[in-house]
Amino acid sequence: MQELPIVKVDRIIESDHAVIDGIDISGRWNRMFSQRAITEYPTEAMDWVTGLAGGESLRSCYQCGKCVPVCPVQHVGNYGPRKLNVKVLRGNNLLDDPDLWLCTTCGNCYRVCPKEVNPLEFMPAIREQAVLEGKVPAELQKVFENLQRQGNPLGEPARRRADWTADAGVPVPLISELGRPVDVLWYVSDYTSYHPRGRDAARAMARVLTALGVDFAILGAEERSDGDSARLAGEAGLFEMLAEQNIKTLRKYRFNRLVVMDPHAYNAFKNHYPRLGWEGEVLHYTQFLAPLVDRIEFRSPVELEVTYHDPCYLGRNNGEYDAPRRLLEAIPGIRLVEMPHSRSNGYCCGGGGGGMWLDGFVADHVSERLSERRVREAVATVGMDGTGILSVACPYEPSRFEDAVKSTGNDGRLIVRDIIELIDQAMQPPAP
Ligand code: SF4
Ligand code: SF4
Repeated sequence: MQELPIVKVDRIIESDHAVIDGIDISGRWNRMFSQRAITEYPTEAMDWVTGLAGGESLRSCYQCGKCVPVCPVQHVGNYGPRKLNVKVLRGNNLLDDPDLWLCTTCGNCYRVCPKEVNPLEFMPAIREQAVLEGKVPAELQKVFENLQRQGNPLGEPARRRADWTADAGVPVPLISELGRPVDVLWYVSDYTSYHPRGRDAARAMARVLTALGVDFAILGAEERSDGDSARLAGEAGLFEMLAEQNIKTLRKYRFNRLVVMDPHAYNAFKNHYPRLGWEGEVLHYTQFLAPLVDRIEFRSPVELEVTYHDPCYLGRNNGEYDAPRRLLEAIPGIRLVEMPHSRSNGYCCGGGGGGMWLDGFVADHVSERLSERRVREAVATVGMDGTGILSVACPYEPSRFEDAVKSTGNDGRLIVRDIIELIDQAMQPPAP
């Protein structure tokens, strides 16, 4: 029989004689009780991250790898909390690392992680330190300045927030002018107020609410960004400033519930404004309309296959999957087809966690935009035999996905529509 070589383990300390807890464990068996170095990595970076409020969970990672296949950024690069954990263990505090800005806080890794390692908490915590040290990508810094000065990420004047109402075709009352309580205070949101494609959804929403006889009003120039994406991008102070402005405004008026267009606003009002002093009923518009769907008078069918993109901050991170589907299934003519990534395993559009304002920066570090991957999946689901519809329920998405339809060469195969636009379209009389 071949003799095995003897391996010399010179860093393990053995005592000839040792008594551990009253038991004599001499010779090689006592090595397990001896203190020895198990790593040569410095611990300062991990100690620093886990010392931040929100940073604690990063240390819990035990490298099981379950997060790897579900991270959307991993699909277009090399990413995920497992990799971030290793980097920090090796002494990189991430402040100068592009990886700090690639996570969209979509939450899909947290969904599967057995150790509850949570980027929705540790990413904003580390990013906040980067913000304090001025280490922020230029395009994101510009958005922070817009939010600070104008109260919206697009840098538009607050007085123009309600300009879109002029072309809505129905009256859109300002609560400040009504002088009475309303049932629904509609928080319109930034992209819905200013972006041309967002404004299409706002006008559709105004028409649908009016047709349903909802007693509603908007804040107009008094509205400010909900601030949630700035918070996730590391600007906690800016988030608090915007939230305090909004809360001060909300307290001036009486209403039964707040209805929002934007899942990020929904997340902010539901989960983060309460600790700043505002609590009330808040509904995403799909949640508000779904119970009313039997009252909607549809007059024109939409004879197309439709798939639905679950926004991370309505679906996975807030658990609402059914209300949007209930609305879509009620529209005559629509055939709803699910994409492989749907509901809790929905695929991020790339816009969350500040990603909406980091497209240029992120493009240098990934092989493809997440919105492009999602569009390819939508085309494969509903756009192979003619034109299909990618329906959305977040104001970030129409422009993101329409750009991706063009850049992937899928013009004519996929139409991007907010669900409220589809409802509005189906409520119109048939074309002659
Ligand atoms: S799933 Fe959680 S524990 Fe497993 S590698 Fe990813 S972060 Fe670490
Ligand atoms: S939150 Fe999403 S993007 Fe960020 S690491 Fe987890 S799966 Fe990846």
